[in-house]
Amino acid sequence: MSSRIAQKLILVGAPGAGKGTVAKGLVDRFGLTHLSTGDMLRTAATAGTEVGLAAKVFMDQGQLVPDAVMVKLIAERVQEPDCRSPDGSPRFLLDGFPRTLVQADALQSEGLAPDLVVFLDVPGEAIVRRLSGRRTCPVCGNSHHVEFAPPTVEGCCDRCGSALIHRTDDHEATIRHRLATFEAQTSPLISRYGAVTERVDANQSPQAVLKAAVAVLRAYGVPLLDEKGPLGQA
Ligand SMILES: [Zn+2]
Repeated sequence: MSSRIAQKLILVGAPGAGKGTVAKGLVDRFGLTHLSTGDMLRTAATAGTEVGLAAKVFMDQGQLVPDAVMVKLIAERVQEPDCRSPDGSPRFLLDGFPRTLVQADALQSEGLAPDLVVFLDVPGEAIVRRLSGRRTCPVCGNSHHVEFAPPTVEGCCDRCGSALIHRTDDHEATIRHRLATFEAQTSPLISRYGAVTERVDANQSPQAVLKAAVAVLRAYGVPLLDEKGPLGQA
């Protein structure tokens, strides 16, 4: 563990590990700026920046945005004031990137290698159970879970009564494929970042997971929002 205060944070976890919930909780408590690749791509494309437009060409064709473009996008985004600590150094919580060792190298060459990686660890079988049981309402967007949040009337949305669907994304075969991809590409990152990686057991309640993640950031010296004085100065 480093004695310096961690400022460049990366959240790693398989699909369904609960990254979104943890990211939101950490942002609320630590005042970090949450950088999700999906959001950054949409924002830059809409804003029409040079990098954003370059990325948009690929997105419009349904292709993956190349690593070099993605890294440039992140490097630009990190220049903005909300990604800077008072002394001007970069400060952020990056989610969804890097996913591969090649991307990790690219990030490092921009001087953005993480000083803390929070790995949300959930056994594959638990993720399959979490995701494959999900049923979605195509009308109002509500979601249920056959095991953890069953609807009052089987197969019907509690909110609007429409028939629930089982999205392709939530089919077991799709989930297992995504997990295998994660295992093959992203797990090596955990080894690469071994010295600054902290594993959080994410196979527990969302509250417990967040509590454990908060404890990790505290151990790395990340100040809570209310420790910096009035919110306005954060
Ligand atoms: Zn509904």
